[in-house]
Amino acid sequence: MPITDTKRYKRSKQRERILEILKKTNTHPTADWIYNHLKKEYPKLSLGNVYRNLNILVNQGLVHELSFGSTFDHYDAHTEEHYHFICQSCGAILDLEMPYIGADDRKVEKMTGAKVHFHRTEFYGICKKCLDKNQ
Ligand code: ZN
Ligand code: MN
Repeated sequence: MPITDTKRYKRSKQRERILEILKKTNTHPTADWIYNHLKKEYPKLSLGNVYRNLNILVNQGLVHELSFGSTFDHYDAHTEEHYHFICQSCGAILDLEMPYIGADDRKVEKMTGAKVHFHRTEFYGICKKCLDKNQ
């Protein structure tokens, strides 16, 4: 488990909505996408608000931030550790249904004497949709 923030935050309806939206999707949206999705509902919302709320959710361990060296971070409310496939053509991020190899964490602990909290693995290539399109 990542280290989580135990600080108390004032409850926020907007933050609850952001978490709700993230829980309902498996598309790993960006802050921008979430902002566009919510601005009708909350006309006073700013992109800065969305980032601030996302950071709090990340600090609380309720949301994972995925940065693959791309321009924008993506967010995932499915916090059980899992692996991803990233399409280098369309940028889709797909969840992989394969078991998390906790034994690897222990292996690295033995190698380094460190305490491992988790590891992340990404597979890169061209997704099936993009492959089919180009046939
Ligand atoms: Zn693709
Ligand atoms: Mn995911």
